[in-house]
Amino acid sequence: MHERATTPNPSPAGAAIVLFRHDLRVADNPALHAACAAHGTVYPLYIHAPEEHGDWKEGGASRWWLHHALCALDARLRGIGGALQVYRGDTLAVLRGLLADGGVGAVYWNRRYEPTAIDADRHTMAALRALGVAVHSHNAALWREPWDIANEAGRPYRVFTPYWRKVRATLVPDAPLPVPRIRGWRPLPGSLAIDALLLRPRIDWASGLGDAWTPGEAGAAELLEIFADDALADYARARDLPARHGTSRLSPHLHFGEVSPRQVHHALADAVARSPSSRRPDLEPYLRELGWREFAHHLLYHFPDTPTENFNPAFANFRWSPPDPVHLEAWQRGRTGIPLVDAGMRELWHTGWMHNRVRMIAGSFLVKNLRQHWLHGARWFWDTLVDADLASNTLGWQWVAGCGADAAPYFRVFNPVTQAAKFDPDGQYLRRWLPELADAPTALLHQPWKDPSLLRRSGYPAPVVDLAASRDEALEAWRTRG
Ligand SMILES: Cc1cc2nc3c(=O)[nH]c(=O)nc-3n(C[C@H](O)[C@H](O)[C@H](O)COP(=O)(O)OP(=O)(O)OC[C@H]3O[C@@H](n4cnc5c(N)ncnc54)[C@H](O)[C@@H]3O)c2cc1C
Repeated sequence: MHERATTPNPSPAGAAIVLFRHDLRVADNPALHAACAAHGTVYPLYIHAPEEHGDWKEGGASRWWLHHALCALDARLRGIGGALQVYRGDTLAVLRGLLADGGVGAVYWNRRYEPTAIDADRHTMAALRALGVAVHSHNAALWREPWDIANEAGRPYRVFTPYWRKVRATLVPDAPLPVPRIRGWRPLPGSLAIDALLLRPRIDWASGLGDAWTPGEAGAAELLEIFADDALADYARARDLPARHGTSRLSPHLHFGEVSPRQVHHALADAVARSPSSRRPDLEPYLRELGWREFAHHLLYHFPDTPTENFNPAFANFRWSPPDPVHLEAWQRGRTGIPLVDAGMRELWHTGWMHNRVRMIAGSFLVKNLRQHWLHGARWFWDTLVDADLASNTLGWQWVAGCGADAAPYFRVFNPVTQAAKFDPDGQYLRRWLPELADAPTALLHQPWKDPSLLRRSGYPAPVVDLAASRDEALEAWRTRG
């Protein structure tokens, strides 16, 4: 049973701790809102406990984001009467140490959905209750709890469309919760400076992240406003064009909880209602993408082994190639000689984000043309994505590899050349990320190997594999699987 149940608060007038995790915002934050409504004293807390994430501790790009997001949250909390108290170590041990000092009778948090985090929260909840502390958990991250949605047979969904039909049928753009006022705050003993968590990389490889992103609630609100005013109108078409800013880029903000799906839905529904009826954008394709995010959480909750195990048992004996360090490094560094794959991998390295269509193509190339196990891709994305999210990354990689729930069939191998011609016809995206090919004629840009002198002049690598031959080998491996 999940730790979702709340207990009645025995001492509403006493002090409460609000534990921040993947909900780094003060607006529309149910745990913070409830604590401020019920308690005369509220202490906002962040406890850095990477061991609670098991094998999926925050990667480098996530740590960079987290540092800045915590600074932004602290500034927001100072504006409403509190400040973020920061600790490192075992959550329960830190809380225990603070209970007496702060006169704390209740702890509030918003729920997490990663398997090891669920276990950790269950353990903390039981131990606190045994100490007589009330624990209240809330939903701040999803439209619907994963355990509240079931198919006709009462089982979890494995296919997106009926899942989404069910969720969408009851979805309304509820108004977000207002920003509360924190009362009675005073500093708690032992709080660390955010810098002391050592989240930022020691070697400064992250300047591209700083150029691309503003972690925190204000950064999320700005992107949401830009998207609502501009890109939403053309989303259904432009979302597949990597050269355009045709998507919302809200994924890291959603992952860290700097904006909630409810806030997004409400703001976009409002923008749609305000636009003239002749130019009213269609909100549905965008909500559906957020629906995939919900579905990813549904699957992770019900199938907690899937971050490392194939969802589809038909892949149990599938022969992936042994790990190939040369191919893996070429893929990671954007040096495979396949322009769309390399452009995406360099965008990822530089900005911590990659366009969704390019994620699918770069992923397909790794697991099919290079026949590397999808976990190599999932781990690299985990370290380099600012939006690295166990639910969405697992769904994405299992989808690409063909072994996931409702996945692309294995035999559907993306052709990066035709995909580039279709979705980046004039090569704008390729030129942006492959400067050595910036002057190449468009006809050659998608297949530079056709002109060996271009490769010599530009220093751009020859393909590490032949696209057609490696595709055939992948299909043969599928046909002859055990
Ligand atoms: C191999 C692979 C790995 C991925 N890993 C992640 C990951 O670690 N974290 C992550 O947030 N997304 C992941 N995605 C999904 C998707 O690529 C990103 O969510 C999307 O590119 C984010 O950009 P955006 O915010 O502009 O999206 P928009 O098009 O603006 O979509 C709005 C929101 O919907 C959600 N969303 C959109 N598409 C998907 C999807 N396919 N699956 C789940 N949620 C979706 C995201 O929260 C996104 O912010 C992965 C996809 C693939 C193919």
